[in-house]
Amino acid sequence: MHKPVRNAWKFCRRHLSVGTQPKPVLSTKETLTDLFGRYHNYLRISLTERCNLRCQYCMPEEGVKLTEKPHLLTTDEVIKIARLFVKEGVDKIRLTGGEPTIRKDLPDIIYNLKQIEGLKTVAMTTNGLVLTKQLVALQKAGLDIVNVSWTHLLLRSMKKLQEEKAGIG
Ligand code: SF4
Repeated sequence: MHKPVRNAWKFCRRHLSVGTQPKPVLSTKETLTDLFGRYHNYLRISLTERCNLRCQYCMPEEGVKLTEKPHLLTTDEVIKIARLFVKEGVDKIRLTGGEPTIRKDLPDIIYNLKQIEGLKTVAMTTNGLVLTKQLVALQKAGLDIVNVSWTHLLLRSMKKLQEEKAGIG
C-alpha cells in the first residue's frame, strides 16, 4: 500500500486518492513526490458513494450513511481539482465510486477531463451493470479505459455454491 500524498488528501479525504508510478521518474514536480521519493502521476476520483448493487461487505442491508449532496463534488469541482493535479504532473485519472455510471453527468465529466492539456488517460472502474447502455456515449466523450469489477459476481457465485452445498440452493 502506498502512503497518500499529504497535499492531495487535503482536498477531499473521501473522494480522492493517488496512485504511484511503479518506477520513480525524474521530474521537477515536487508537489506529488512523497517522503519515499515516489512520484505520483495517477489520481483516482470517486464520483459517488452510491451504487446500483448491494454487495454485502460494501452496502449492508441496513444501509450506510451517505454523504449529503451539498458535500459531494460537482461536475465543475471534479474538473477544477483534476486541472490542479494535472498541473502538478498527474497524467492518468480513474473515475470510481460507488458506481460512477449512476452519475448522470458522467459523459460531461469525461468530456471535460479529456480537454485538459497534459492528461493522457481517463479510465473508469465499474460494476458493468449498465455498461451496454452507456458505453457508446462514454466512448464518444473520450473514455480511454474501462475496468469491469467482477467482485459482485464472484461473491454471488460463492454464496450460491455455499447454499447448494448446504442444500438450501
Ligand atoms: S458493485 Fe462495488 S460499489 Fe457497488 S455495492 Fe458492490 S462492491 Fe460496492
